[in-house]
Amino acid sequence: MKTIYTFGNGHAEGRADMKILLGGKGANLAEMNLIGVPVPPGFTITTEVCRLYNEKGREAVVEMIKDDVMKSVAHIENLTGNKFNDPSNPQLVSVRSGAPVSMPGMMDTVLNLGINDEVAETLAQKSGNPRFAWDSYRRFVQMYGDVVLGMKPTNKTDIDPFEAIIEELKEKKGVQFDTDLDVDDLKELVVRFKAAVKENTGKDFPTDAYDQLWGAIYAVFDSWNNERAILYRRMNQIPEDYGTAVNVQAMVYGNMGNNSATGVCFSRDAATGEDLFNGEYLINAQGEDVVAGVRTPQQIMTVGSRRWAEMQGISEEERVAKYPSLEESMPECAKQLVEIQQKLEDHYRDMQDMEFTIQDGKLWLLQTRNGKRTGAAMVKIAMDLLREGAIDEKTVIKRMEPGKLDELLHPVFDKSAVKNAKVMAKGLPASPGAATGQIVFFADDAEEWASRKKKVIMVRLETSPEDLRGMSVAQGILTARGGMTSHAAVVARGMGKCCVSGAGTIKVDYKARTVEMNGKTYNEGEWISINGSTGEVYDGQVATVDPDLGGDYAAVMALAEKYSKMDVYTNADSPRDAMKARELGAHGIGLCRTEHMFFEGDRIKAMREMIIAPDEESRRVALAKLLPLQRGDFEGIFKAMDGYEVTIRLLDPPLHEFVPHQLETMRELAEETGRKLEEVKLICDGLEEFNPMLGHRGCRLGNTYPEITEMQARAIIEAALNVKAAGVDVHPKIMVPLIGVKAEIKMQADIINATAQKVFAERGETVAYKVGTMIEIPRAALVADQIAEVVDFFSFGTNDLTQMTFGYSRDDAGKFLAIYKELGILKEDPFQVLDQEGVGQLVEMATRKGRAANPDLNVGICGEHGGEPKSVKFCNKLNLNYVSCSPYRVPIARLAAAQAAVEAE
Ligand code: ADP
Ligand code: MG
Ligand code: MG
Repeated sequence: MKTIYTFGNGHAEGRADMKILLGGKGANLAEMNLIGVPVPPGFTITTEVCRLYNEKGREAVVEMIKDDVMKSVAHIENLTGNKFNDPSNPQLVSVRSGAPVSMPGMMDTVLNLGINDEVAETLAQKSGNPRFAWDSYRRFVQMYGDVVLGMKPTNKTDIDPFEAIIEELKEKKGVQFDTDLDVDDLKELVVRFKAAVKENTGKDFPTDAYDQLWGAIYAVFDSWNNERAILYRRMNQIPEDYGTAVNVQAMVYGNMGNNSATGVCFSRDAATGEDLFNGEYLINAQGEDVVAGVRTPQQIMTVGSRRWAEMQGISEEERVAKYPSLEESMPECAKQLVEIQQKLEDHYRDMQDMEFTIQDGKLWLLQTRNGKRTGAAMVKIAMDLLREGAIDEKTVIKRMEPGKLDELLHPVFDKSAVKNAKVMAKGLPASPGAATGQIVFFADDAEEWASRKKKVIMVRLETSPEDLRGMSVAQGILTARGGMTSHAAVVARGMGKCCVSGAGTIKVDYKARTVEMNGKTYNEGEWISINGSTGEVYDGQVATVDPDLGGDYAAVMALAEKYSKMDVYTNADSPRDAMKARELGAHGIGLCRTEHMFFEGDRIKAMREMIIAPDEESRRVALAKLLPLQRGDFEGIFKAMDGYEVTIRLLDPPLHEFVPHQLETMRELAEETGRKLEEVKLICDGLEEFNPMLGHRGCRLGNTYPEITEMQARAIIEAALNVKAAGVDVHPKIMVPLIGVKAEIKMQADIINATAQKVFAERGETVAYKVGTMIEIPRAALVADQIAEVVDFFSFGTNDLTQMTFGYSRDDAGKFLAIYKELGILKEDPFQVLDQEGVGQLVEMATRKGRAANPDLNVGICGEHGGEPKSVKFCNKLNLNYVSCSPYRVPIARLAAAQAAVEAE
């Protein structure tokens, strides 16, 4: 087994496509050598060795790789002409971890390894720069103490013992920067650092270079299994058995004086995608100094430097004098760097994030990788590369992270404004976007304030269907309780409305109309801002800007359209949502819930009258009032969806959700219907159920009160005939919820068909319609073949199907799901990402059985999963006809569908 891969001087045993074996860093260090980029020589111990280390233990592994390590160190020595562990001609190295995917929690890099008192003297003499020698030494002792000997505090608020010593010395000397310390100061630091190590670990600081090297190698391997790394892997679904590689590399010194520097750079702008090489550097510095903010870093390019100075309010004279660009301070190196970044980008055909060091005027690259970027940059960079001919259309699709599109669809906070905003609380990023408004606590207040053109944010412990109208007029919603699938979260996402849910630290007092956050008490009417993409809640008003959906975004969506096979529909209950979804690329409505329509205005009254009606006859009287209202709603939606299918679901929730809960409202209802208060109260209370989600709802309502189904079917068919007469191309689909038994759907289908025939006869005209069912009860999936005989289509209601397959209540699962994820019992929240292993089997089986019994069966899904990329890809694999999701998720689903199609090729 080959345990180590060397690289250096234009040769390498590894390659870019060996990331699993060599880690991302190691694979790219090898590749850079192969394409002629200057990289200090070194070697990579494979991830396979890490796995063996975890299985067989330290000794077995050392035995196995000892000789290879010695040989590989000699490889470095041959190329540099120096010797490791030789005080007369010392070679120092860095030890760097590197997993197949970038992973916080892994061991930090140790630089200048191999140094001791004697070596430091030699380095000082040879370089003629004692400051450099002792600066390297003190850095090494600190890094080794922190990361290998475990002295770095794990608690964020504790101060690093070495930093404390530095601060103390700087204060004593009255200086501001590390660079202001002189040689004697640095020597003193080394002495005091070592004393701190001795005190802390009880052992002397290791002076032998090989002892230091092995210590660092063990530390990298051990860090694979530290708590932070394990947690990160669980949260991000990174396989436990990947392991990390160890990179050992000859040092190059950015701290060798004013002709040396270190920096990081990007081949394009990672925030906006602009094709502008940019980055930062520091003269006479090493390693992480640039990102750690020890001094103000300078810009690499003069263009960038001028932009930076302008934003900082720094004059051109001051900029040139104090913060010159690399182009200005080291023009030769800058020129070389510009060439190399172009070479790397051309080679990898993607935006590169690079790290470099300049030692005494010579440039070295230490890392390159495909750079992380915002959603906007992702879209722009891919389209630019396509136009430049660097990548093809399918690669554009593959490069997209569908979830990131979200960032482009909603208003966003102005970048500089949010920098200065004060964070008062943090919840879940339940529905992305930015919102700013005045606090209100109740739905009716929200409506009232909004009608006076005020911008409001609804702040609640949690929301319920009664809050819908308030939510729809609010800029955003903030709740103290509830998870990513809480009522507030789901409804807000559906509305494309910004929402932060489950901000557990806020204290809402409905009575006093106050909310306390971070020690400040806010009254109704005070301004706050919420960030639905990060979950942050800010004090006061923070400026927002509108998104631009043309240009590159539109171009990417056109490509998605071109390459996807499966269609994307939307879940929409109103013409407005339908229009929005259409704009965002939806090709139909996969779920139109009718119950929301019963809450608006006076409708709830007719609905309540229907519910408390003592007999069929009075129920029909109330239903007759609802008929024209529903018909009108459907007409609006049909018009908005001209040419596309509209799937309307019959009444689904338990009736109890519609009746009043307060005595006051019950009294009103009693008065309006001319009945006794006690009677009304008795009926309302009688509708209470222990498990309403498993109670009298869905088709169970339509089968026990057939006149409800009749009314709804009539409203749909009449609406379809009306718009058809007006020239609309209408395709109604009537969908029955919560079927578990064939007879249930048979009975409903009979009512629907009979009603349709009756309306056709009355009108003397017909319209084509389809009848189908939700598959959301496991039993329905099991007997899908029987059910398919009666219907034209299936729509998997994966929210309920997940709930009932797992036996988790959607409303209560928040309490334990987070813990389950942390413990690794569940990899993902099954309400967010479809559980392919379990629930997915039901979907697969029901589709197969259904299509076997009815070859024309049309199949889709309409749960929250319809907009989740992994779940969409799964649906594509099962050859579903469509996925349906909330309007703002349509672009995400379209892109995921296109990706699935391209990846399947
Ligand atoms: P990370 O994974 O956190 O980016 P790296 O292994 O890239 O850690 O190391 C961080 C920094 O240390 C690098 O950006 C580089 O500046 C510096 N560094 C690492 N190895 C060397 C080396 N051989 N010579 C000089 N600097 C190095
Ligand atoms: Mg790095
Ligand atoms: Mg359902």
